Amino acid sequence: MPSFGNMTLSELIRPEGHKCACGRTHVCAMKYLNIGRGIVDEVPAMVAAMGKSKPFVVCDDNTYAVAGKRVDAILTAAGVDHRLYVIPLHDPGAGRIAPAEWETGSLIMHYDPACDMILAVGSGVVNDLCKVAAHAVGVPSAVVGTAPSMDGYASNCGSMEVNHVKVSLYGAVPEGILLDTEILSRAPMRMLWAGLGDMVAKYVAVCEWRISNLVTGEYYCPEVAELMRSALRRLMAAADRIASRDPEAIGSIAEGLVLAGIGMAYAEISRPASGLEHYFSHMWEMMALERGVPYDLHGIQVGVGTLLTMKIYRKFVADGTKPDRAKAEAHMRDFDPAAWEARVKRVFGKTAGQILEIEEKTHKNDPEKHARRLDNIIAHWDEIEAIIREELPDYDALYSVMAATGMPLTPADIDIPVQDVVDAFVCARDVRDKYLTASLLWDLGLTEEYAEFVRRINE
Ligand SMILES: [Zn+2]
Ligand SMILES: [Zn+2]
Repeated sequence: MPSFGNMTLSELIRPEGHKCACGRTHVCAMKYLNIGRGIVDEVPAMVAAMGKSKPFVVCDDNTYAVAGKRVDAILTAAGVDHRLYVIPLHDPGAGRIAPAEWETGSLIMHYDPACDMILAVGSGVVNDLCKVAAHAVGVPSAVVGTAPSMDGYASNCGSMEVNHVKVSLYGAVPEGILLDTEILSRAPMRMLWAGLGDMVAKYVAVCEWRISNLVTGEYYCPEVAELMRSALRRLMAAADRIASRDPEAIGSIAEGLVLAGIGMAYAEISRPASGLEHYFSHMWEMMALERGVPYDLHGIQVGVGTLLTMKIYRKFVADGTKPDRAKAEAHMRDFDPAAWEARVKRVFGKTAGQILEIEEKTHKNDPEKHARRLDNIIAHWDEIEAIIREELPDYDALYSVMAATGMPLTPADIDIPVQDVVDAFVCARDVRDKYLTASLLWDLGLTEEYAEFVRRINE
């Protein structure tokens, strides 16, 4: 019986995986994973552990300066033949490279087929581009991280933009991850905030995962959930040292983010790491792409989304909410598919077609499906209340930890208009076939009341 919360990183990634009481064998096979102070010198050891000899090293201008130059020198000194490619800034106005067609094309066009792996030096975008490119050219990838800003290091998905629409593209899981906390602690403060934001999301994620398990019957693994909780406990114990860039505290963010990636690989879904807070972020990003305006770092938006979701739960608990069958059934009877479709078209714009297709497949708005979920909600109400109590931290305690770092806390702090906050809340349940807090409120007939609440607290 595994207890993932107490395992070392190397135990967690052992190739044979772990047989679990949930009935599955959890695997996140990586050949090298290390987080620590001053360990960037281990790059040649990582390449060797992967059984490779000629890495194609990829950076952007920023990550070249903070780590790429050093990685290049370390490989040269160790006699490891390699190529270096610095992805140029395609749109100088944007100030950062995009995870989009041009950059992917540039990377693949410059790839040297004599290389046998891609080594990303960077965090979010560089890492995503390398995962997708490595998959396309058919070689494994590894990463030397430069910021603990997102939990995608150990995931098999690249968060990309195709035709200015955000998509999740498959790319194999990196076989090596090396995170030097000395390097990470020098990352821009916004990236440290983003890492903390992407981590606190796990409170909501685990809470929603358990609720969905009861309401929809979706698969759930208590051991993977416990892995997330243990990462959160270690992070919260060190959180007051994030603002001073203490490498150990930064290491606890990095470790939490890597464990979240392992948790997703174990569960084979994003449930352990992402809930409604992520859908606020997905929606805001989609809206920004649609309008062609810049948007904030993923983890920063997610941190804001986490506090918003926590406020929703604070009201939910303070109101002493109980399921009201008559109210929920009336809400379903009054549901107007045409009005719903019109709203999807208004809010989602270019991606509305995809959203409507999801509903054609999943029928979550179907009265029969609603009736079944409502029965489950009513039958499991005591457990749902207990889950909320057990999984979510005290709002004020979480708020003060986040506020002490100076990070953005409200949609207004990151220039999100009130209407976008309300639209994101109401439409979050339409983005994918995933049961969220917003779905639970819809099933209870409380969407309009909470939309008003979300508007009021952000005005
Ligand atoms: Zn399990
Ligand atoms: Zn995330």
